[in-house]
Amino acid sequence: MTEILLRTVRRVGTSGAPADVRIADGLVTEIAPAGTLDPAGPDTEVVETAGAWLGPGLRDHHTHFDQWALVRRRVDVSGCDSAESTADLLAAVARTGVPDRVLIGHGYRDGLWPTPARRELLDQAAPGLPTVVISGDLHAVWCNALALAHFSALVGRSLEAGADGILREQDAFDVTGALSQVPDDLLDGYVADAVEAAAARGVTGIVDLEMRFGLDRWTRRIHAGTDSLRVASGVYPAELDAAISRGLRTGDVVDRTRGLLTMGPFKVVTDGSLGTRTAAMADGSGVLAWEFDDLVAITRRAVDAGLVPAIHAIGDRANTLALDVFEAVGARGTIEHAQLLADTDVERFARLGVAASVQPEHAMDDRDIADRHWAGRTDRAFAFASLARAGARLLLGSDAPVAPLDPWVSMAAAVGRDRDGRDPWHPAERVSALAAWRGSTDGRVGVAVGDVADLVLVESDPLAVSSSGLRDMRVLATAIAGRFTYSEL
Ligand SMILES: [Zn+2]
Repeated sequence: MTEILLRTVRRVGTSGAPADVRIADGLVTEIAPAGTLDPAGPDTEVVETAGAWLGPGLRDHHTHFDQWALVRRRVDVSGCDSAESTADLLAAVARTGVPDRVLIGHGYRDGLWPTPARRELLDQAAPGLPTVVISGDLHAVWCNALALAHFSALVGRSLEAGADGILREQDAFDVTGALSQVPDDLLDGYVADAVEAAAARGVTGIVDLEMRFGLDRWTRRIHAGTDSLRVASGVYPAELDAAISRGLRTGDVVDRTRGLLTMGPFKVVTDGSLGTRTAAMADGSGVLAWEFDDLVAITRRAVDAGLVPAIHAIGDRANTLALDVFEAVGARGTIEHAQLLADTDVERFARLGVAASVQPEHAMDDRDIADRHWAGRTDRAFAFASLARAGARLLLGSDAPVAPLDPWVSMAAAVGRDRDGRDPWHPAERVSALAAWRGSTDGRVGVAVGDVADLVLVESDPLAVSSSGLRDMRVLATAIAGRFTYSEL
Protein backbone atom coordinates (compact mmCIF):
# COMPACT_ATOMS: atom_id res chain seq x y z
CA MET A 1 0.00 0.00 0.00
CA THR A 2 1.32 3.40 -0.93
CA GLU A 3 0.41 6.11 1.51
CA ILE A 4 0.85 9.85 1.44
CA LEU A 5 0.21 12.12 4.40
CA LEU A 6 -0.43 15.76 3.45
CA ARG A 7 0.22 17.93 6.46
CA THR A 8 -1.33 21.32 7.22
CA VAL A 9 -3.49 21.78 4.15
CA ARG A 10 -6.40 24.15 3.86
CA ARG A 11 -9.31 22.79 1.92
CA VAL A 12 -11.02 24.74 -0.85
CA GLY A 13 -14.64 25.30 0.08
CA THR A 14 -13.93 25.56 3.80
CA SER A 15 -12.94 28.45 6.04
CA GLY A 16 -9.38 27.20 5.80
CA ALA A 17 -8.85 25.49 9.14
CA PRO A 18 -5.58 23.52 8.73
CA ALA A 19 -6.00 19.80 8.28
CA ASP A 20 -4.00 16.64 7.67
CA VAL A 21 -5.11 14.45 4.78
CA ARG A 22 -4.26 10.79 4.37
CA ILE A 23 -4.16 9.24 0.91
CA ALA A 24 -3.90 5.49 0.53
CA ASP A 25 -4.14 3.34 -2.56
CA GLY A 26 -5.24 6.26 -4.65
CA LEU A 27 -8.06 7.41 -2.38
CA VAL A 28 -8.52 10.11 0.23
CA THR A 29 -8.96 7.97 3.32
CA GLU A 30 -8.83 10.36 6.26
CA ILE A 31 -9.12 14.07 6.98
CA ALA A 32 -8.46 15.39 10.48
CA PRO A 33 -7.35 18.60 12.21
CA ALA A 34 -3.72 19.49 11.50
CA GLY A 35 -1.19 17.73 13.70
CA THR A 36 -3.44 14.83 14.58
CA LEU A 37 -2.58 12.25 11.90
CA ASP A 38 0.56 10.14 12.02
CA PRO A 39 2.20 8.14 9.24
CA ALA A 40 0.86 4.59 9.08
CA GLY A 41 4.35 3.21 8.65
CA PRO A 42 7.93 3.90 7.59
CA ASP A 43 7.00 3.92 3.90
CA THR A 44 4.49 6.75 4.24
CA GLU A 45 5.49 9.81 2.24
CA VAL A 46 4.93 12.79 4.53
CA VAL A 47 4.43 16.07 2.66
CA GLU A 48 4.51 19.30 4.66
CA THR A 49 2.34 21.70 2.64
CA ALA A 50 2.64 24.75 4.93
CA GLY A 51 -0.96 25.80 4.47
CA ALA A 52 -1.39 25.14 0.76
CA TRP A 53 -4.97 25.05 -0.51
CA LEU A 54 -6.17 21.59 -1.54
CA GLY A 55 -8.87 20.96 -4.12
CA PRO A 56 -9.99 18.41 -6.69
CA GLY A 57 -7.74 18.15 -9.76
CA LEU A 58 -8.56 20.50 -12.62
CA ARG A 59 -10.01 19.68 -16.01
CA ASP A 60 -9.89 21.30 -19.40
CA HIS A 61 -13.14 20.32 -21.07
CA HIS A 62 -12.15 21.21 -24.63
CA THR A 63 -8.69 20.74 -26.13
CA HIS A 64 -7.09 19.80 -29.42
CA PHE A 65 -4.11 18.26 -27.76
CA ASP A 66 -1.86 17.35 -30.71
CA GLN A 67 -2.33 20.82 -32.17
CA TRP A 68 -1.55 22.34 -28.79
CA ALA A 69 1.56 20.17 -28.41
CA LEU A 70 2.79 21.40 -31.80
CA VAL A 71 1.97 25.06 -31.32
CA ARG A 72 3.55 25.36 -27.89
CA ARG A 73 6.94 24.40 -29.37
CA ARG A 74 6.87 27.59 -31.35
CA VAL A 75 8.37 30.79 -30.08
CA ASP A 76 5.79 33.56 -29.75
CA VAL A 77 7.32 36.61 -31.45
CA SER A 78 4.11 38.62 -31.62
CA GLY A 79 5.49 41.11 -29.10
CA CYS A 80 8.51 41.98 -31.26
CA ASP A 81 8.32 45.31 -33.09
CA SER A 82 11.21 44.89 -35.53
CA ALA A 83 13.06 42.31 -37.60
CA GLU A 84 16.07 42.71 -35.32
CA SER A 85 14.14 42.15 -32.08
CA THR A 86 12.46 39.09 -33.61
CA ALA A 87 15.86 37.67 -34.56
CA ASP A 88 17.23 38.52 -31.10
CA LEU A 89 14.41 36.63 -29.38
CA LEU A 90 14.99 33.58 -31.57
CA ALA A 91 18.74 33.77 -30.94
CA ALA A 92 18.10 33.79 -27.20
CA VAL A 93 15.92 30.69 -27.53
CA ALA A 94 18.51 28.98 -29.76
CA ARG A 95 21.20 29.60 -27.13
CA THR A 96 19.17 27.76 -24.49
CA GLY A 97 19.16 24.71 -26.75
CA VAL A 98 16.42 23.74 -29.19
CA PRO A 99 15.64 20.03 -28.88
CA ASP A 100 14.09 19.89 -32.33
CA ARG A 101 15.29 19.82 -35.89
CA VAL A 102 13.77 23.20 -36.68
CA LEU A 103 13.43 26.44 -34.69
CA ILE A 104 9.93 27.81 -35.24
CA GLY A 105 8.61 31.23 -34.34
CA HIS A 106 5.09 32.44 -34.89
CA GLY A 107 3.10 35.63 -34.87
CA TYR A 108 5.33 38.19 -36.59
CA ARG A 109 3.66 41.30 -38.02
CA ASP A 110 6.05 43.26 -40.23
CA GLY A 111 3.63 45.92 -41.45
CA LEU A 112 5.00 48.51 -39.03
CA TRP A 113 8.62 47.38 -38.78
CA PRO A 114 11.08 50.27 -39.31
CA THR A 115 13.23 48.15 -41.64
CA PRO A 116 12.20 45.08 -43.61
CA ALA A 117 13.05 41.47 -42.76
CA ARG A 118 16.37 40.12 -44.03
CA ARG A 119 17.20 36.44 -44.38
CA GLU A 120 20.67 36.86 -42.94
CA LEU A 121 19.27 38.07 -39.59
CA LEU A 122 17.86 34.58 -39.11
CA ASP A 123 21.02 32.95 -40.50
CA GLN A 124 22.95 34.71 -37.72
CA ALA A 125 20.30 34.18 -35.03
CA ALA A 126 20.55 30.40 -35.04
CA PRO A 127 23.64 29.19 -36.91
CA GLY A 128 23.31 25.59 -38.04
CA LEU A 129 19.58 25.45 -37.29
CA PRO A 130 16.80 25.73 -39.86
CA THR A 131 14.76 28.68 -38.59
CA VAL A 132 11.30 29.76 -39.73
CA VAL A 133 8.92 32.41 -38.43
CA ILE A 134 5.23 32.20 -39.30
CA SER A 135 3.40 35.49 -39.79
CA GLY A 136 0.45 36.44 -37.60
CA ASP A 137 -2.01 35.99 -40.47
CA LEU A 138 -0.38 32.71 -41.63
CA HIS A 139 0.07 34.02 -45.16
CA ALA A 140 3.86 34.36 -45.03
CA VAL A 141 6.85 32.59 -43.51
CA TRP A 142 10.24 34.16 -42.92
CA CYS A 143 13.06 31.61 -43.37
CA ASN A 144 16.79 31.40 -42.99
CA ALA A 145 18.88 29.70 -45.69
CA LEU A 146 18.86 26.34 -43.91
CA ALA A 147 15.08 26.46 -43.54
CA LEU A 148 14.62 27.20 -47.25
CA ALA A 149 16.71 24.13 -48.08
CA HIS A 150 15.00 22.03 -45.40
CA PHE A 151 11.48 22.86 -46.58
CA SER A 152 12.37 22.60 -50.28
CA ALA A 153 13.38 19.00 -49.60
CA LEU A 154 10.18 18.36 -47.60
CA VAL A 155 7.74 19.79 -50.17
CA GLY A 156 9.69 18.41 -53.12
CA ARG A 157 10.38 21.61 -55.01
CA SER A 158 12.75 24.52 -54.73
CA LEU A 159 11.32 27.30 -52.55
CA GLU A 160 12.80 30.60 -53.73
CA ALA A 161 12.82 33.64 -51.46
CA GLY A 162 14.48 36.99 -52.08
CA ALA A 163 16.99 38.65 -49.80
CA ASP A 164 14.23 39.03 -47.20
CA GLY A 165 13.89 35.24 -46.84
CA ILE A 166 10.10 35.52 -46.95
CA LEU A 167 7.81 33.01 -48.68
CA ARG A 168 4.23 34.05 -49.33
CA GLU A 169 0.81 32.50 -49.96
CA GLN A 170 0.98 28.95 -51.38
CA ASP A 171 4.69 28.59 -50.59
CA ALA A 172 3.94 29.67 -47.03
CA PHE A 173 0.97 27.31 -46.73
CA ASP A 174 3.14 24.44 -47.96
CA VAL A 175 5.70 25.19 -45.28
CA THR A 176 3.17 25.44 -42.45
CA GLY A 177 1.51 22.28 -43.75
CA ALA A 178 4.86 20.47 -43.64
CA LEU A 179 5.42 21.76 -40.11
CA SER A 180 2.32 20.02 -38.80
CA GLN A 181 3.24 16.71 -40.50
CA VAL A 182 5.54 15.40 -37.84
CA PRO A 183 6.39 11.74 -37.33
CA ASP A 184 4.64 9.89 -34.51
CA ASP A 185 7.73 9.61 -32.34
CA LEU A 186 8.42 13.32 -32.53
CA LEU A 187 4.77 14.25 -31.92
CA ASP A 188 4.59 11.89 -28.95
CA GLY A 189 7.59 13.68 -27.48
CA TYR A 190 5.90 17.04 -27.91
CA VAL A 191 2.73 15.64 -26.37
CA ALA A 192 4.66 14.26 -23.40
CA ASP A 193 6.06 17.75 -22.75
CA ALA A 194 2.63 19.35 -23.09
CA VAL A 195 1.18 16.79 -20.67
CA GLU A 196 3.82 17.68 -18.08
CA ALA A 197 3.12 21.38 -18.59
CA ALA A 198 -0.60 20.80 -18.03
CA ALA A 199 0.10 18.84 -14.85
CA ALA A 200 2.23 21.76 -13.66
CA ARG A 201 -0.90 23.95 -13.89
CA GLY A 202 -2.91 21.54 -11.76
CA VAL A 203 -4.64 19.71 -14.60
CA THR A 204 -5.49 16.07 -14.01
CA GLY A 205 -7.94 15.54 -16.88
CA ILE A 206 -8.69 16.76 -20.38
CA VAL A 207 -11.24 16.20 -23.08
CA ASP A 208 -9.32 15.77 -26.34
CA LEU A 209 -11.32 16.80 -29.40
CA GLU A 210 -8.55 16.29 -31.91
CA MET A 211 -10.09 15.75 -35.37
CA ARG A 212 -8.29 12.45 -35.86
CA PHE A 213 -9.70 9.83 -33.47
CA GLY A 214 -7.07 9.56 -30.75
CA LEU A 215 -7.76 6.37 -28.80
CA ASP A 216 -4.85 4.41 -30.27
CA ARG A 217 -2.43 7.32 -30.10
CA TRP A 218 -3.19 7.92 -26.41
CA THR A 219 -2.93 4.20 -25.63
CA ARG A 220 0.51 4.18 -27.23
CA ARG A 221 1.57 7.27 -25.28
CA ILE A 222 0.38 5.93 -21.95
CA HIS A 223 2.31 2.71 -22.56
CA ALA A 224 5.38 4.85 -23.26
CA GLY A 225 5.03 6.53 -19.86
CA THR A 226 3.04 9.67 -20.70
CA ASP A 227 0.77 9.14 -17.73
CA SER A 228 0.24 12.51 -16.05
CA LEU A 229 -3.27 13.20 -17.41
CA ARG A 230 -6.57 11.45 -17.66
CA VAL A 231 -7.77 11.75 -21.24
CA ALA A 232 -11.27 11.47 -22.67
CA SER A 233 -10.81 11.12 -26.41
CA GLY A 234 -13.71 12.23 -28.60
CA VAL A 235 -14.72 11.12 -32.08
CA TYR A 236 -16.11 13.01 -35.08
CA PRO A 237 -18.65 11.82 -37.68
CA ALA A 238 -15.97 10.65 -40.13
CA GLU A 239 -14.84 7.97 -37.66
CA LEU A 240 -18.10 7.41 -35.80
CA ASP A 241 -18.64 3.93 -37.26
CA ALA A 242 -15.10 2.89 -36.37
CA ALA A 243 -15.63 4.14 -32.83
CA ILE A 244 -19.00 2.42 -32.48
CA SER A 245 -17.50 -0.86 -33.72
CA ARG A 246 -15.18 -0.85 -30.70
CA GLY A 247 -18.23 -1.06 -28.48
CA LEU A 248 -17.10 1.73 -26.18
CA ARG A 249 -19.57 4.12 -24.60
CA THR A 250 -18.62 7.60 -23.47
CA GLY A 251 -16.86 7.27 -20.13
CA ASP A 252 -15.80 3.64 -20.64
CA VAL A 253 -12.20 3.01 -19.65
CA VAL A 254 -9.97 1.76 -22.46
CA ASP A 255 -8.23 -1.53 -21.65
CA ARG A 256 -4.61 -1.53 -20.56
CA THR A 257 -4.42 2.21 -19.95
CA ARG A 258 -4.38 2.02 -16.11
CA GLY A 259 -7.71 3.79 -16.09
CA LEU A 260 -6.24 6.94 -17.61
CA LEU A 261 -7.94 6.81 -21.01
CA THR A 262 -11.67 6.86 -21.53
CA MET A 263 -13.93 7.06 -24.54
CA GLY A 264 -14.91 10.70 -25.01
CA PRO A 265 -17.95 12.34 -26.56
CA PHE A 266 -19.28 12.34 -30.11
CA LYS A 267 -18.21 15.72 -31.46
CA VAL A 268 -20.08 17.31 -34.33
CA VAL A 269 -19.56 20.80 -35.74
CA THR A 270 -22.63 22.76 -36.83
CA ASP A 271 -21.17 26.12 -37.83
CA GLY A 272 -18.00 28.14 -38.24
CA SER A 273 -16.48 30.80 -36.01
CA LEU A 274 -16.76 34.41 -35.00
CA GLY A 275 -13.31 35.37 -36.27
CA THR A 276 -13.88 34.10 -39.81
CA ARG A 277 -17.50 35.33 -39.72
CA THR A 278 -18.82 31.85 -40.50
CA ALA A 279 -20.84 31.42 -37.29
CA ALA A 280 -24.47 30.65 -38.17
CA MET A 281 -26.52 33.67 -37.14
CA ALA A 282 -30.23 34.26 -36.62
CA ASP A 283 -29.99 37.03 -39.24
CA GLY A 284 -29.22 34.32 -41.82
CA SER A 285 -25.52 35.03 -42.17
CA GLY A 286 -22.82 32.43 -41.68
CA VAL A 287 -22.62 28.77 -42.53
CA LEU A 288 -24.62 25.82 -41.21
CA ALA A 289 -22.83 22.53 -41.86
CA TRP A 290 -25.89 20.29 -41.28
CA GLU A 291 -29.53 20.00 -42.19
CA PHE A 292 -31.61 19.50 -39.06
CA ASP A 293 -32.84 16.01 -40.01
CA ASP A 294 -29.35 14.77 -40.86
CA LEU A 295 -27.96 16.10 -37.62
CA VAL A 296 -30.75 14.46 -35.63
CA ALA A 297 -30.09 11.16 -37.41
CA ILE A 298 -26.36 11.02 -36.80
CA THR A 299 -26.72 12.27 -33.22
CA ARG A 300 -29.33 9.59 -32.54
CA ARG A 301 -27.01 6.98 -34.01
CA ALA A 302 -24.22 8.07 -31.65
CA VAL A 303 -26.55 8.23 -28.64
CA ASP A 304 -27.94 4.77 -29.38
CA ALA A 305 -24.34 3.50 -29.25
CA GLY A 306 -23.84 5.12 -25.84
CA LEU A 307 -21.94 8.19 -26.98
CA VAL A 308 -22.67 11.57 -25.42
CA PRO A 309 -23.03 14.33 -28.03
CA ALA A 310 -20.78 17.39 -27.89
CA ILE A 311 -22.23 19.77 -30.45
CA HIS A 312 -20.15 22.74 -31.59
CA ALA A 313 -22.30 25.86 -31.94
CA ILE A 314 -21.04 29.44 -32.03
CA GLY A 315 -23.75 31.64 -33.59
CA ASP A 316 -27.22 32.08 -32.12
CA ARG A 317 -28.85 30.18 -34.98
CA ALA A 318 -26.43 27.27 -34.55
CA ASN A 319 -27.16 27.16 -30.81
CA THR A 320 -30.91 27.06 -31.42
CA LEU A 321 -30.35 24.22 -33.86
CA ALA A 322 -28.13 22.31 -31.43
CA LEU A 323 -30.70 22.64 -28.63
CA ASP A 324 -33.44 21.54 -31.05
CA VAL A 325 -31.37 18.46 -31.86
CA PHE A 326 -30.94 17.57 -28.18
CA GLU A 327 -34.67 18.04 -27.70
CA ALA A 328 -35.54 15.87 -30.72
CA VAL A 329 -33.14 13.09 -29.77
CA GLY A 330 -33.99 13.28 -26.07
CA ALA A 331 -30.34 13.11 -25.09
CA ARG A 332 -28.14 14.99 -22.68
CA GLY A 333 -24.74 16.28 -23.65
CA THR A 334 -22.79 19.47 -24.20
CA ILE A 335 -22.86 22.41 -26.51
CA GLU A 336 -19.29 23.39 -27.25
CA HIS A 337 -18.68 27.17 -27.26
CA ALA A 338 -22.30 28.44 -26.94
CA GLN A 339 -20.92 31.87 -27.76
CA LEU A 340 -24.05 33.75 -28.85
CA LEU A 341 -27.47 32.78 -27.53
CA ALA A 342 -31.01 33.87 -28.23
CA ASP A 343 -32.61 35.08 -25.01
CA THR A 344 -35.21 32.32 -25.29
CA ASP A 345 -32.53 29.62 -25.52
CA VAL A 346 -30.71 30.38 -22.27
CA GLU A 347 -33.14 28.49 -20.06
CA ARG A 348 -33.28 25.49 -22.43
CA PHE A 349 -29.79 24.31 -21.42
CA ALA A 350 -30.81 23.37 -17.90
CA ARG A 351 -34.22 22.09 -18.95
CA LEU A 352 -32.71 19.74 -21.56
CA GLY A 353 -29.75 18.70 -19.42
CA VAL A 354 -27.29 20.25 -21.82
CA ALA A 355 -24.09 21.62 -20.29
CA ALA A 356 -22.51 24.74 -21.72
CA SER A 357 -18.88 23.87 -22.49
CA VAL A 358 -17.40 27.35 -22.77
CA GLN A 359 -13.96 28.91 -23.30
CA PRO A 360 -13.95 32.18 -21.34
CA GLU A 361 -10.57 33.36 -22.63
CA HIS A 362 -12.06 33.51 -26.15
CA ALA A 363 -14.19 36.39 -24.89
CA MET A 364 -11.00 38.25 -23.98
CA ASP A 365 -9.35 37.44 -27.32
CA ASP A 366 -12.43 38.26 -29.37
CA ARG A 367 -14.16 41.11 -27.53
CA ASP A 368 -13.19 43.70 -30.15
CA ILE A 369 -14.15 41.41 -33.03
CA ALA A 370 -17.47 40.67 -31.32
CA ASP A 371 -18.14 44.37 -30.68
CA ARG A 372 -17.71 44.93 -34.39
CA HIS A 373 -19.34 41.89 -35.99
CA TRP A 374 -21.94 41.16 -33.34
CA ALA A 375 -22.71 44.82 -32.67
CA GLY A 376 -25.95 45.23 -30.70
CA ARG A 377 -25.92 41.58 -29.69
CA THR A 378 -22.87 41.29 -27.42
CA ASP A 379 -25.02 41.38 -24.27
CA ARG A 380 -25.99 37.84 -25.35
CA ALA A 381 -22.38 36.80 -26.14
CA PHE A 382 -20.38 34.56 -23.79
CA ALA A 383 -23.38 34.85 -21.44
CA PHE A 384 -21.89 32.75 -18.66
CA ALA A 385 -23.72 34.37 -15.75
CA SER A 386 -27.08 34.16 -17.52
CA LEU A 387 -26.50 30.47 -18.18
CA ALA A 388 -25.44 29.81 -14.60
CA ARG A 389 -28.43 31.76 -13.24
CA ALA A 390 -30.73 29.69 -15.44
CA GLY A 391 -29.31 26.52 -13.88
CA ALA A 392 -27.09 25.40 -16.73
CA ARG A 393 -23.96 23.49 -15.87
CA LEU A 394 -20.88 25.40 -17.02
CA LEU A 395 -17.82 23.44 -18.14
CA LEU A 396 -14.71 25.52 -18.68
CA GLY A 397 -12.03 24.85 -21.26
CA SER A 398 -9.40 26.43 -23.43
CA ASP A 399 -9.95 25.04 -26.93
CA ALA A 400 -6.14 24.88 -26.92
CA PRO A 401 -4.31 25.83 -29.10
CA VAL A 402 -6.81 28.69 -29.57
CA ALA A 403 -6.17 29.72 -25.96
CA PRO A 404 -3.47 28.34 -23.67
CA LEU A 405 -4.21 25.05 -21.92
CA ASP A 406 -4.38 26.58 -18.47
CA PRO A 407 -7.57 26.39 -16.37
CA TRP A 408 -6.41 29.41 -14.34
CA VAL A 409 -6.60 31.52 -17.49
CA SER A 410 -10.12 30.22 -18.16
CA MET A 411 -11.24 30.85 -14.58
CA ALA A 412 -9.76 34.34 -14.56
CA ALA A 413 -11.57 35.25 -17.77
CA ALA A 414 -14.86 33.85 -16.47
CA VAL A 415 -14.61 35.64 -13.13
CA GLY A 416 -13.18 38.96 -14.32
CA ARG A 417 -13.94 39.23 -18.04
CA ASP A 418 -10.87 41.44 -18.02
CA ARG A 419 -7.26 41.20 -19.18
CA ASP A 420 -4.31 43.43 -19.96
CA GLY A 421 -5.61 46.21 -17.69
CA ARG A 422 -8.73 46.80 -19.77
CA ASP A 423 -12.15 47.32 -18.23
CA PRO A 424 -14.29 44.20 -17.86
CA TRP A 425 -16.29 43.36 -20.97
CA HIS A 426 -20.02 43.04 -20.20
CA PRO A 427 -19.35 42.70 -16.46
CA ALA A 428 -22.94 41.57 -15.86
CA GLU A 429 -21.87 38.21 -17.33
CA ARG A 430 -19.03 37.67 -14.84
CA VAL A 431 -19.52 34.50 -12.81
CA SER A 432 -18.60 33.80 -9.21
CA ALA A 433 -15.26 32.22 -8.41
CA LEU A 434 -17.25 29.25 -7.13
CA ALA A 435 -18.99 28.76 -10.49
CA ALA A 436 -15.69 29.07 -12.37
CA TRP A 437 -14.00 26.65 -10.00
CA ARG A 438 -16.74 24.02 -10.27
CA GLY A 439 -16.61 24.41 -14.04
CA SER A 440 -12.91 23.60 -13.91
CA THR A 441 -13.18 20.49 -11.73
CA ASP A 442 -15.48 17.51 -12.12
CA GLY A 443 -18.14 19.67 -10.46
CA ARG A 444 -16.87 19.25 -6.92
CA VAL A 445 -15.76 22.18 -4.80
CA GLY A 446 -13.66 20.42 -2.19
CA VAL A 447 -12.04 17.15 -1.30
CA ALA A 448 -13.75 14.59 0.91
CA VAL A 449 -12.99 11.17 2.37
CA GLY A 450 -13.64 8.48 -0.21
CA ASP A 451 -12.71 10.62 -3.19
CA VAL A 452 -10.28 9.40 -5.80
CA ALA A 453 -7.13 11.37 -4.98
CA ASP A 454 -6.98 13.49 -8.14
CA LEU A 455 -5.80 16.63 -6.40
CA VAL A 456 -4.28 20.04 -6.78
CA LEU A 457 -2.43 22.08 -4.15
CA VAL A 458 -2.17 25.82 -4.73
CA GLU A 459 -0.79 28.81 -2.91
CA SER A 460 -4.01 30.84 -2.43
CA ASP A 461 -7.69 30.15 -1.96
CA PRO A 462 -9.06 30.05 -5.55
CA LEU A 463 -12.48 31.12 -4.25
CA ALA A 464 -11.09 34.27 -2.66
CA VAL A 465 -8.57 35.76 -5.10
CA SER A 466 -9.09 38.36 -7.84
CA SER A 467 -9.16 37.50 -11.53
CA SER A 468 -5.48 38.40 -11.84
CA GLY A 469 -4.76 36.25 -8.79
CA LEU A 470 -6.44 33.36 -10.57
CA ARG A 471 -4.53 34.01 -13.80
CA ASP A 472 -1.19 33.89 -11.98
CA MET A 473 -2.08 31.20 -9.46
CA ARG A 474 0.94 29.32 -8.22
CA VAL A 475 0.40 25.56 -8.37
CA LEU A 476 2.41 23.65 -5.77
CA ALA A 477 1.51 20.07 -6.58
CA THR A 478 -0.79 17.91 -8.67
CA ALA A 479 -1.68 14.27 -8.18
CA ILE A 480 -3.63 11.59 -10.01
CA ALA A 481 -4.96 8.77 -7.86
CA GLY A 482 -2.51 9.70 -5.15
CA ARG A 483 0.49 9.75 -7.48
CA PHE A 484 2.26 13.10 -7.82
CA THR A 485 2.39 14.26 -11.43
CA TYR A 486 3.89 17.58 -10.40
CA SER A 487 5.33 18.83 -7.13
CA GLU A 488 7.25 21.76 -5.77
CA LEU A 489 6.73 20.55 -2.20
ZN1 LIG B 1 -12.24 23.16 -30.55
